Parts: sequence; C-alpha cells; structure tokens
Amino acid sequence: MRTDRTFTMLKPDSVEKGHVGAILEKINASGFRIVAMKLTQMTTADAKEFYAVHSERPFYGELVEYMTRGPIVAAILEKDNAVDDFRTLIGATNPADAAEGTIRKLYAASIGENAVHGSDSDENAAIEGAFHFAGREMF
Ligand code: UDP
Ligand code: MG
Repeated sequence: MRTDRTFTMLKPDSVEKGHVGAILEKINASGFRIVAMKLTQMTTADAKEFYAVHSERPFYGELVEYMTRGPIVAAILEKDNAVDDFRTLIGATNPADAAEGTIRKLYAASIGENAVHGSDSDENAAIEGAFHFAGREMF
C-alpha cells in the first residue's frame, strides 16, 4: 500500500533569503519522505498554468511575477495523511493568521510572498507533482 503524497514548492523568497535548509529540516523532522526534489525556475507560461485556478483573482498577475522571478525548490513528499499534515505544517496562507511554529509564521513575509506551496487535495497533489517531475525523477 502506497502512503499519501503531497507536492510543495519552496518559493523564490525562500531561496533568495537562504531559508531552504531550515525549511527542509522542518519537513524532514515532521516525518515526510522526499520522493522527488529539484531546484528549478518556472517560466511565465508554467506559472500561469500552475495557478490557472486563480486566473480571475486580482492577485494573479503579481503571483505569476513572484513565482517566476527566481528559482524554486520543487518536491514531492510522502507521509500518511500527507496533504492535510503538510497544510498544517505550513500554516495559513496569510502568515499573520498562521499558527506559531508553522513554516509560514517563521519564514513568510506576507500573504503574497508566503514562502511555501502545499497542495490542497490528493488529486491536485498528483497533478502538481506530474507538472514538475517525470516518472523517472520520483523515487
Ligand atoms: N495569494 C495572494 N493574495 C491572496 C491570496 C493568495 O497573493 O489574497 C497568493 C499566495 O502566494 C498563495 C497563492 O496565491 O500562496 C495561492 O493562493 P491559495 O488561496 O491557493 O493559497 P495557498 O493554497 O497557497 O495557501
Ligand atoms: Mg492553494
């Protein structure tokens, strides 16, 4: 039986500020196994497609600018109840609302530049993982 998977991105602000090591340490300490991981940069077309669900929202343009301005760390993570447990670990979208000790509380600057992505469902985790990784890159 395969355990659950989620998909994450350590967003450009996390890479720029040198927070990758600390965030990966928290992910590791929280019991997630790394299935796939790479440093990569999304093109404008990539980011528009990845965030297509938000295309009508007022922040869409800024979100695409932000997510393409530098490299990200993309990863697939495995753990029982991975999607929900990872959303708990990262905290609320707006770091002002995020619980103490969460990744966004510790490392996010604002609701826009909020350090990390976490999939919101098993279905989207599979879609988002496949968007960034070929089958031979998953272990
Ligand atoms: N975002 C933003 N302004 C908002 C809401 C979201 O800039 O008012 C950005 C933010 O980077 C967020 C991403 O858009 O992580 C996707 O939004 P979503 O509501 O899916 O939040 P998430 O699932 O990342 O917590
Ligand atoms: Mg979301």
